[in-house]
Amino acid sequence: MSYFASKSVLLLSMNNTFSSIITKWYADNKRDLPWREATDPYLIWISEVILQQTRVAQGYDYFMRFVRRFPDIQSLAEASEDEVMTMWQGLGYYSRARNLHAAAQSMQGVFPTTYQEVRALKGVGDYTAAAICSFAYDLPYSVVDGNVYRVLARYWGIDTPIDSTEGKKLFAALANEMLDRQHPAVYNQAIMDFGALQCTPQSPDCCRCPLAESCSAYRKGCVAQLPVKQHKTKTVERFFNYIYVRAGANNNQNYTFLRKRTGNDIWKNLFELPLIETDTAMSEQEFRDLPQLKQLFTESELATLRLLHSNIKHQLTHRTLYANFYEVTLPEDATPPDGCIKVAVDELERYAVPRLIQMFFHLSKKLL
Ligand code: SF4
Repeated sequence: MSYFASKSVLLLSMNNTFSSIITKWYADNKRDLPWREATDPYLIWISEVILQQTRVAQGYDYFMRFVRRFPDIQSLAEASEDEVMTMWQGLGYYSRARNLHAAAQSMQGVFPTTYQEVRALKGVGDYTAAAICSFAYDLPYSVVDGNVYRVLARYWGIDTPIDSTEGKKLFAALANEMLDRQHPAVYNQAIMDFGALQCTPQSPDCCRCPLAESCSAYRKGCVAQLPVKQHKTKTVERFFNYIYVRAGANNNQNYTFLRKRTGNDIWKNLFELPLIETDTAMSEQEFRDLPQLKQLFTESELATLRLLHSNIKHQLTHRTLYANFYEVTLPEDATPPDGCIKVAVDELERYAVPRLIQMFFHLSKKLL
């Protein structure tokens, strides 16, 4: 007999109470967000994709700017990928922007209306499909995000790892059992907000929680131990040496060189400065001696090389980057090395660059 079959009677009686308590809590505490009242699947889709891996406070401004520029499927589908990437600049996880763009182009102006069609869109997984279908069409699909895992694991006192195959199946089935089928949109938003604001990862407000009486983890004193994760994410270190070219004449260095990242690595299709990546951190002298550097610039050009910033740490989810920034001064008619383009400094804003490079440009404006 399955975990839930054995508890089905109990679940049946409890999920009405659970749902009504959560829904009542939501009515009193819900966050006022611009996409909340929307039933337009396009707007819900954009907001859900932006909010994956992004805090609401940061995602809010991006959402407003994105939908102002691309108010519907058509405008997003007709935009160039470079423009979509520029609007996404700074949000990270750029494959999200590429997938949005590709999915918009696949829709032919009409947003799909069934769960299966929505789930088939590029970049849309179970969570996003359930969110779009329940919020836009009030279809009975339960969302399972980090907040929902946490609330259910604690409420039911389940220590099965949420990132195991068994855990994923178990929590998906439990979320489905608990779903309020009469009001899936409100219930799904309620449980996610409850996890984000009340049953938080570090300091859940158990003393004033309306579910405290029936919460298994609270009664057993194991709130801090739940939910359980089996894998710790491994972080990889990478060492980037960027070269900021300043090309011009008479102290007016109006041009620089950029290159577009290709391949299936971080920041694919974003622009950055010419880069030499090394396996370990490099001193300035070690960097000057690198053969790759001599392939990019001549001896006389390298005579102008100077270190601007060293060992800038930039944290991504699975990677820690350490970046050095060098400067090389070249004549105005200098031609860029293979794979690079020459760009007027006052047109840099037209190019989507990673946040690390964006911060360097800001810093350079102040110092140079
Ligand atoms: S009592 Fe605490 S752990 Fe249980 S649902 Fe409420 S906030 Fe979460």
